[in-house]
Amino acid sequence: MNNYQFVTAVHGNEPLPTLAIAAMGEPQVVGNPVALARGKRFVDCDLNASFGLSGTEYEQTRARELRKLLNRKRKVVDFHTFSCESEPFAIVVDLALLPLARRIGVQRVVYMRHNIKSGHALINAYPGVSVEVGNHTDPSSFSRTQTVVQRLREGSDEVSLRVYEVYGRIREQGNYKNFQEKHGLVPVLYGERAYPDGGFYGLAAREITSTIKQMEEI
Ligand SMILES: [Zn+2]
Repeated sequence: MNNYQFVTAVHGNEPLPTLAIAAMGEPQVVGNPVALARGKRFVDCDLNASFGLSGTEYEQTRARELRKLLNRKRKVVDFHTFSCESEPFAIVVDLALLPLARRIGVQRVVYMRHNIKSGHALINAYPGVSVEVGNHTDPSSFSRTQTVVQRLREGSDEVSLRVYEVYGRIREQGNYKNFQEKHGLVPVLYGERAYPDGGFYGLAAREITSTIKQMEEI
């Protein structure tokens, strides 16, 4: 258990994982307590795009403060929820973290090599995985968070994963369903309310499960 540190509410409008871990009495690091208290995604800017930046906006300052609260020797498990309709999934920025992603218990993992946060997400700064446990208001996001914590605490077996690599953004609206391939494109977080402000509607990925299997067999 001490190999992991749980981080929640990097986005303040995602309270269920914080509540779920508190209800278990497990330690956690609350990423953005001010935004959480206000029920807002952030105060000045996205904390999950603020790591490794100088600057005086609240989240940039908070990202530096978190250095004192996070231990680089333990892997981060960073919980999120979303506003769109999707199955839960894990996110890695380094394929070396796939074994940890397999212990989380979700069926899918999204590999963000071309990171949409331009390399300033929490898991760019601290080795670990992000877990998108479910919709912001779905009670199963609460129970799934607890299941992940329990699995890691018990050292559960690895689950075989389907792996997707993000290669771009979906810039046009369309009839997309998350993780359902359409003309070679697998949509991820399509319909996420946080994205239209950024000029796109979701992420474009391709499935690389068989490539990963081949790599691991060598
Ligand atoms: Zn989030």
